[in-house]
Amino acid sequence: MKHTLFSLSLLFFVSCYNKEQNKTVANKRVSAIQAAVVKLVPLGKTTQQFIMESFSAMKQILPEVVLLSKEEMPSHSWYAPRKRYRADTLIHWLSSRAKENETYVGITMNDISTTKGDVFDYGVMGLGYCPGNACVASNYRLKNKKDFIKVVIHELGHTTGLPHCPDKTCYMRDAEGGDHTDKEKGFCESCKKHLVGFGWRL
Ligand SMILES: [Zn+2]
Ligand SMILES: [Zn+2]
Repeated sequence: MKHTLFSLSLLFFVSCYNKEQNKTVANKRVSAIQAAVVKLVPLGKTTQQFIMESFSAMKQILPEVVLLSKEEMPSHSWYAPRKRYRADTLIHWLSSRAKENETYVGITMNDISTTKGDVFDYGVMGLGYCPGNACVASNYRLKNKKDFIKVVIHELGHTTGLPHCPDKTCYMRDAEGGDHTDKEKGFCESCKKHLVGFGWRL
């Protein structure tokens, strides 16, 4: 039994966390929380290269992005039984720091996890409110670390209210328990249109 749980939690997935039960298009459009100012926060384990590559890739899409100083992981996000950090706790913590019209994006090289269905602690690449003002992305589970920006903008896309996309080559596709970032070629026309409406340069 223990073995089964361990195997399950080794699977990868990228997820979105619905802050509000009732997600309607109207809700998304009138949300007061929009990505007017995106604040990038390096958390826990990072390198200067990891931070600067993420920051410059973000700047291409959102020139107003602000890079904050790196910080320790908040101690209350530590999940001792699996020796990793809880992504749901992290986005709640980041969200509480965001002022109106700010979105916080945590980036880390540490392993992060959240509850997925029956699995209490499931390893993930990222988690973001959908919609909301915070997300977190980790490169720990990524096969090709150069694809990390895809994880970041997927989670940031959720914060603008974008759900998962049926187009398997779109950055907003559901990872469905795997790492498909190598198949993602860009945002599809529909997702692109939505994000351009939020000031993204695509
Ligand atoms: Zn997602
Ligand atoms: Zn799409």
